[in-house]
Amino acid sequence: VRHWRGLTMPKVDVGPIIVPFFISHRGCPHQCVFCDQRTIAGSDGSFPSAHEIQEKIARYSAARPGSSVVAAFYGGSFTCLSRQDQLRLLKPLQPLLAVGKVASIRLSTRPDAIDSDVLTLLRSMGVQTVELGVQAMDDDILIDAGRGHTVNDVVRAADVLRDYGFSFGVQLMPGLPGDDRIRSLRSLSRALALRPAFLRIYPTIVLAGTPLAEHFMAGAYQPLTLQAAVTLCKIMLHRCLQANVPIIRMGLQPTADLDNAGVVLAGPYHPAFRQLVESELCYDLVVALLGDGKRTCESVTITCSPSRIADVVGQRRANSERLLREHGVRLAAVRADARLNTLELNVAGPAKERRGTILKDLHYA
Ligand code: SF4
Repeated sequence: VRHWRGLTMPKVDVGPIIVPFFISHRGCPHQCVFCDQRTIAGSDGSFPSAHEIQEKIARYSAARPGSSVVAAFYGGSFTCLSRQDQLRLLKPLQPLLAVGKVASIRLSTRPDAIDSDVLTLLRSMGVQTVELGVQAMDDDILIDAGRGHTVNDVVRAADVLRDYGFSFGVQLMPGLPGDDRIRSLRSLSRALALRPAFLRIYPTIVLAGTPLAEHFMAGAYQPLTLQAAVTLCKIMLHRCLQANVPIIRMGLQPTADLDNAGVVLAGPYHPAFRQLVESELCYDLVVALLGDGKRTCESVTITCSPSRIADVVGQRRANSERLLREHGVRLAAVRADARLNTLELNVAGPAKERRGTILKDLHYA
């Protein structure tokens, strides 16, 4: 899988074309406290027809001829749909798979909606990747979130997915009711122990019309602040980099629906959330490389991979201003050097120069 924007990957690597189909809340018998699939997916809840599926794939393929194509069913819980509905969505892809116009299929579902029968069907239809909506590896948090499944369900689903040769990913939601920094990080290490191919991390936000919105309005729930979510996700990203497991998305994808007034009631929603996180990792590495010592307006020049310049400077020059404010360091220049990888920085001050990497020179408790 090479289609994410992330610290380990050069941003020029655009990877396969993902053609998304949102099946919305269909098929899901639950109501998790945070979930408004209709708003998140930007969908009206109806299934795409066979013609719409094939036409959308042709349209996306035409935009980037020669790239491989992955059909992806997101939203809802695909394997909670009736067998007939699953086939209705997967069958139009079969002729495209047969001639190589679609390379593979991926979908998302609940851990307790995975078993041998389901996976036999999915495998026969060319599905290769399953994303598990896990949210937390903590039974108390899962109960409070109304998830309707347990940590054991996740472990069992991961085992059977592996046995059947599927690649699988895990979605986590730090900041749910009852969650805190320690529990979030424990959930992450339990998730990593399942050896997923990738993760998605969505800090919890409060959407209008959800049970969580009622808790929030009643003062019974407080979401993470944006800064707390960035700090927590920074540590999560660092741990995933160390475990060599990519996080293919951090923070909800901005959509027109989400950006409508009154849809996001509270929580750490930011259209460029991931950049805030990566930018703070870069900031921490700069500080680590500067080392201890008191400074008064000392000038430094930072050299980084060409794709990292914006992250080093920070959104609206946030890192640059913070370096001056907190460490008395003036960022004189940020230079690109293609010989550096995306995890490396070189910090040159008047007296010394140090090169380091996010993996070796950053440590979080
Ligand atoms: S299982 Fe998924 S689709 Fe169903 S309510 Fe929960 S988050 Fe929404």
